[in-house]
Amino acid sequence: EATALPGFDGHEQVWLGRDTERGLEAIVAVHTTVLGPALGGTRIWPHVSFAAGVTDALRLSRGMSFKSAIAGLALGGGKAVIIADPKKDKTPAMLEAYAEMLNALVGQYITAEDVGMTLADADFLAERTPNVSGTTRGGSGNPSPFTALGTFLGLKAALRHRTGSDDLKGICVAIQGLGSVGWGLAQRLQAEGATLVVSDLDPARTERAAEEFGATVVEGQEIIAADVEVFAPCALGGVLSAATIPLLQARIVAGAANNQLATVTDGERLRERDILYAPDYVINAGGVINVAAEIGSGRYNLDHVMARVSQIPSTLTRIFERAAQEGRTTDDVAETMAREIIEAARR
Ligand code: NAD
Repeated sequence: EATALPGFDGHEQVWLGRDTERGLEAIVAVHTTVLGPALGGTRIWPHVSFAAGVTDALRLSRGMSFKSAIAGLALGGGKAVIIADPKKDKTPAMLEAYAEMLNALVGQYITAEDVGMTLADADFLAERTPNVSGTTRGGSGNPSPFTALGTFLGLKAALRHRTGSDDLKGICVAIQGLGSVGWGLAQRLQAEGATLVVSDLDPARTERAAEEFGATVVEGQEIIAADVEVFAPCALGGVLSAATIPLLQARIVAGAANNQLATVTDGERLRERDILYAPDYVINAGGVINVAAEIGSGRYNLDHVMARVSQIPSTLTRIFERAAQEGRTTDDVAETMAREIIEAARR
């Protein structure tokens, strides 16, 4: 049935796991394993239906395939969804049942943190299954600083492509979401002289940003229409849509949030408005690059991680140039490039 659901894109495997006694209802979607085992986090979220959970897993695992391929990693793409409210339903018994499910998928799927699954949960799973990454126990730890660094470097590459210079002095950037990644991005931007406009649901974070960075604080959707050069979505997905794109004043969108385009058509909407979009899974690959460094035969090596993160700007520049030459959207070009890498490996 999964093949008929939106988001199905020739996935290799979709596993459904149910343990009613221990409260587990899980979907593991493996998009590709051509380049290596499918890596992707587990999202614990109270989806309204099983089909909605499957669709989410399908969509996210496809994105992970492209993210790892384009970052040059020997990893495939996968993603898991546990249909549960992480605040109420997440119990040790449920996670134990999930670890057993992961054990049955050896070599095919490796999980990590995502919305609703914390570092502590990953550590708990790691005691029961080897198929977990990004743990504190001998793992690569928190990926967010690497995501923030890659996003910062990618934002500068977009600025250079658009204006010929990546000097941030006096450049105004709007950041939506000052969480683990957004805050790290704000620090780096401010240190290089950018002016910040920020929003977050948590007023403590925006107040701190006003104090520490002299940032202008705006509420809710105002961040989208802010009068800035760059808009950096670092909160939710689906932020670029038919409703929001006409409001953008920024000439560049470069941020860390996953699944920023509400639909494929929104990439075209941005192109029509001549807004340069840094495809989300290319610019935010720093975290997965860091996690990947603990998987496989080699030991975690920070220098290798930094070297790969520092390639994000050149990858983006190639995408921007090819999109301009071929009159296509940047997300379309990124997907083509990722598919080319996967197909070459398959052959
Ligand atoms: P986080 O939960 O630490 O931070 C998100 C922040 O956004 C929170 O402060 C939250 O209050 C705020 N927020 C939520 N809704 C908002 C809204 N409507 N308006 C303004 N602020 C809002 O998450 P994070 O780890 O910083 O990740 C941010 C985004 O980047 C997510 O989309 C995530 O999927 C993506 N991402 C993160 C990583 C990583 O390494 N952490 C890697 C790749 C992609």
